Amino acid sequence: MSKQQQSLFISDEAPWEADDQAQYQAAIVVLPEAPWGPYDYLTPDRLRGHVEVGRRVRVPLGRGNRTVNGYCVALENRVGDPGRLKEIRSVVDGEPLLSPSMVALTRWMADYYLCPLGQVLEAVVPAGVRGRAGTREVTLLHVPSEIAARLATLQLPEKQAAVLKLLAASERPLTPLQLAAAAECTLAPINGLRKKGYIKAQVRRMQHAEISETPTESEGHLSMTEDQERALNVVLGAMRAGRHETILMHGVTGSGKTEVYIRAIEETLRYGKQAIVLVPEISLTPQTRQRFRSRFENVALLHSHLSPAERHWHWQRIVRGEVQVVVGARSAVFAPTPRLGLIILDEEHDASFKQDAAPRYHARDVALQRAQMEKAPLVLGSATPSLESWRRAQEGAYRLIDMPRRVFDRPLPDVVALDLRTEWDSRRARGAISRQLQHAMEHALKEGGQVILLLNRRGFSTHIQCPSCGHVVRCQDCDIALTHHREAGRAICHYCDYQTPAPQRCPECGFEGIRYSGLGTERLEAEVRIRFPDFPCLRMDSDTMQKPGSHEAALARFRSGDVRILLGTQMIAKGLDFPNVTLVGVVNADTALHLPDFRAAERTFQLVTQVAGRTGRGDKGGRVLVQTFSPEHPAIQAALQHDYHRFASRELPNREEYGYPPYSSMVRLVVRGPVEAVVEGFSDTLAERISRLNEERGEPVRVLGPTAAPISKLRGKHRFHMLLLCADSALLRAMVQEATRELNPPDDVQWIADVDPLEML
Ligand code: ADP
Ligand code: ZN
Repeated sequence: MSKQQQSLFISDEAPWEADDQAQYQAAIVVLPEAPWGPYDYLTPDRLRGHVEVGRRVRVPLGRGNRTVNGYCVALENRVGDPGRLKEIRSVVDGEPLLSPSMVALTRWMADYYLCPLGQVLEAVVPAGVRGRAGTREVTLLHVPSEIAARLATLQLPEKQAAVLKLLAASERPLTPLQLAAAAECTLAPINGLRKKGYIKAQVRRMQHAEISETPTESEGHLSMTEDQERALNVVLGAMRAGRHETILMHGVTGSGKTEVYIRAIEETLRYGKQAIVLVPEISLTPQTRQRFRSRFENVALLHSHLSPAERHWHWQRIVRGEVQVVVGARSAVFAPTPRLGLIILDEEHDASFKQDAAPRYHARDVALQRAQMEKAPLVLGSATPSLESWRRAQEGAYRLIDMPRRVFDRPLPDVVALDLRTEWDSRRARGAISRQLQHAMEHALKEGGQVILLLNRRGFSTHIQCPSCGHVVRCQDCDIALTHHREAGRAICHYCDYQTPAPQRCPECGFEGIRYSGLGTERLEAEVRIRFPDFPCLRMDSDTMQKPGSHEAALARFRSGDVRILLGTQMIAKGLDFPNVTLVGVVNADTALHLPDFRAAERTFQLVTQVAGRTGRGDKGGRVLVQTFSPEHPAIQAALQHDYHRFASRELPNREEYGYPPYSSMVRLVVRGPVEAVVEGFSDTLAERISRLNEERGEPVRVLGPTAAPISKLRGKHRFHMLLLCADSALLRAMVQEATRELNPPDDVQWIADVDPLEML
């Protein structure tokens, strides 16, 4: 009998009055796709206690009442008549997928990043967990105790008696196949016993893949430098106080930040809590793994090559509190640690922490939110902090720790600019490598050192143009010039991967002397092989590093000394710690300097500083040569001096003058569709809505655009964009939300809102 029915019988009030008093449970459910909800449902009595925040439920939707999955995000006990509230049909998950605090975090994300909660939930819970990858339903057999008690008195055929005896004696339940194997019989006697009720079956979901993590040799403790000691004490102070604090650890390359992280984590574990370490995907090298594995017993490494089953397996271990330290890229910020004690975000300036598909979250900001909710310290580490974080530290919102020295007081390498304008004038150098860089390489290699060359553009030639008619070979779907990849013999679009055989003559006018120009890593490699035939060289870029494991294999070859020259894109600029690298050459520091992006200078400074930090890590010291056409540019000048402070103090006033972040919040709206005029028309409509609201409110928002985006066509879609800037982030987001409410774009036109965008093209 349901509670409601009971109350009808025991109450002496009239039934309609009792109904008014009756309580029912409403479950607030959001759907993982449109229409997103939230919708209220009634928890039927039979599911009371099973419907829980963080579990998925199956609910009827729409007029046809088709059944869909949704997430229960809240429960409310309400008084009165549930009216026409539809009932939940069943519960999907045996355990909540998300703790209440993680549900709160997803609500914050949905609100902050202006996207549906269901979409956030789908991003937070990995697909492998939702689909219970690597698990299956198993039937487990046992003998009920009342049967076991009178086992000797039962009259059974011989086979059945043997089976029953065996199962009753077993310490744990067995599957039918296990039991048949143990009893050396077919399934027939087992089924016979089940029919008689002598054997009971239970269906359970079990994980079948256990992943063996290879243990590594443990690494001894290093004795800490003074700077490390100081930094650690700040973190420990916050931890002991049991409160949230964000600590920006500005430590030059090679200052030993990782050792500080490790010590802080050790302390976290002493409190019985867990730690999350976030690193850029590219830094999840064997070296990083080794470092954490050797210092902690139970580490979960979450990288992009995990199968759904492996992801699920880690997730379950993390939920059960069996993992001490989670190390992973961006999405590891959602690791369901039951008692989170510390979050560390290394290389906090790295753009890979921002997701470029909805929900367009930044792991740093999500980590901050989570750390605040769970009262845990957050450590942001970098040699080149983002100006956003730097400004917050200046304002006192973050605690700043400086680690200005390398361990063992090793000097930072000498960084020298090579002015390509004069090199070019002398007409001595026709390739990528200037005379001076060539000499420095010869010297370093002769002394037994290793060389790193950075060129942040892949392919062979970056430009294919007809000198007769001027035609530039472009992607058919994007407004992008194709890059020639010589090994593949193809011209490739770096945005959509459109490919065509490399043309021998102009596709426009048929002229035979079509010209390939512009420098990519493939051409650089060819040049290095010709100039240094005696020294093995290896190229690392996304073309050569496609297979899982190739990154590790390449770094292992470089570490072993087999490879003497490592060249590649920004992939090689980060985190690598090879003591034998005595020379770094930046082949062209200007590749990002002139992009239409207000962060162009910041990106350039970060890239040059980071790659320069790859040398001088051993006793032999190191040098850096930076080839550039703009040696006087402030970003390059600051990088030559390893002077972050100088860079920040030059760049921040620029940002302030133009009202760019960190002096404002930004939302970027992008509209795309197949017909240019329609896209433009719709972006005008959107802009008008924004402007109207803006006027009503006294123009707190600066509106730039709409205009065609720098990449005006991508994958066959025309693109327009608009930048909105405002000192008050909440106000800005509220306005975008209001302006886009019930906004119906024409067919085939889509729009997105990117909050705190990093991508401007
Ligand atoms: P960062 O991350 O700040 O660039 P790392 O943490 O990679 O620096 O440290 C640079 C190198 O110095 C590593 O090889 C590390 O093992 C070593 N190292 C760090 N701390 C110490 C220490 N206290 N004593 C000796 N070597 C150290
Ligand atoms: Zn393309």
